Amino acid sequence: MGVHGMTGVQEAPAQESLGAYEIAVQQFDAVVERLQLDPGIAAILRQPKRELSVNFPVKMDDGSLHVFTGYRVQHNMIRGPAKGGIRYGPNVTLDEVRALAMWMTWKCAVVGIPFGGAKGGVCCDPKALSLRELENLTRRYISEISLVIGPEIDIPAPDMNTNPQVMAWVMDTYSMQKGYSIPACVTGKPVSIGGSEGRLEATGRGIMAMARKACQHTGLPLTGARVAVQGFGNVGSVAARALQQAGATIVGLSDMDGAIYNERGIDIDAASAAAKEHGSLVAYRQAQRLGNAELLTCACDVLVPAAVENQITASNADRIQARIVVEGANGPTTPSADSILRRRGVLIVPDILANAGGVTVSYFEWVQDLQSFFWTEEEINARLFNIMERAFDSVLALSLREGVDLRTAAYMQAVSKVAEGYIVRGIYP
Ligand code: GLU
Repeated sequence: MGVHGMTGVQEAPAQESLGAYEIAVQQFDAVVERLQLDPGIAAILRQPKRELSVNFPVKMDDGSLHVFTGYRVQHNMIRGPAKGGIRYGPNVTLDEVRALAMWMTWKCAVVGIPFGGAKGGVCCDPKALSLRELENLTRRYISEISLVIGPEIDIPAPDMNTNPQVMAWVMDTYSMQKGYSIPACVTGKPVSIGGSEGRLEATGRGIMAMARKACQHTGLPLTGARVAVQGFGNVGSVAARALQQAGATIVGLSDMDGAIYNERGIDIDAASAAAKEHGSLVAYRQAQRLGNAELLTCACDVLVPAAVENQITASNADRIQARIVVEGANGPTTPSADSILRRRGVLIVPDILANAGGVTVSYFEWVQDLQSFFWTEEEINARLFNIMERAFDSVLALSLREGVDLRTAAYMQAVSKVAEGYIVRGIYP
């Protein structure tokens, strides 16, 4: 099944063994002072609003029962229903899901869509599950968290190792419990049951748009720019193809089994075909083989980490050759790597802005489902680029005005929008 952002995972060095949530809080705290945020509001936002842990049994194909652990964390809902994906993976923890939920709050706020942030996850090895086991696991997990999700409360979507088929099971399970079809309870569904045109490609297309903006700003022509993409899941593969269509030369790609590099360019269609046929990109022959770690430091102008967290760390940040990093993954750069890159003058388009295309088209999907009126792919893409380019422009303007990097500016914009919600709504009762 087509899955999101799977690729080689590098171990973060010991001195960077901060948990994902600790990193998320650090990034938040860095702007609290700068914004002179009310300490009470800061205390609200430093923690998730609500978190649910569930342990649930799944009947396996061999007749045995296996108990899995899953989570749904809602970081904030002041601006609207919570929104965020569901990830499956052997290393999923509450700490990681918490961080990802907080990042969703900022992501929705920075692009100005009316959602709060949430995330879900199940600790499992999706590769070891049959299709039926995956369906059983999904249905039972959704029944367990159905207490806290719904079109007006919290709307799940795909993330790592989940895809439109999994979202179809989510929609069906939730709808069966209510007794009627409720397409707006989840986004990233197949188009045939209320999914949106262009949702599958949205994150990758948004990354292309953000890379194009970053290139314009730095005076680097995107046409002919050398791009390396880490991760060849739904995010990385679509971003690579969109960037190639926009005129860039894709020089490096990687997946879980390794990396490929060709300074004259890699043909994405041929690389995808090789990956489909042989299970990995490394079967593509017209390129040099690199290790996963080498992909990040290869000769390129634009680097798109589109895999998992903690990939650009203090141990490789000073060897990154790219002038622009567009964060396709959530949390790919550790705070210490972030300051090294900043010092070296590398422009980073931060995750909460760079990969917001997915949730933006999820918003369109939810709106279309609520209205039962569907838009064309051209309309979707035009609205997507409009929202993302406007968000980039305002983050860039703020960064220039305040003399800060794009991540700090994006956080400032996001956190102040969320804080504004508390200021005008007030605290109940
Ligand atoms: N999982 C995606 C993300 O991290 C999309 C979330 C959504 O569409 O709700 O942004």
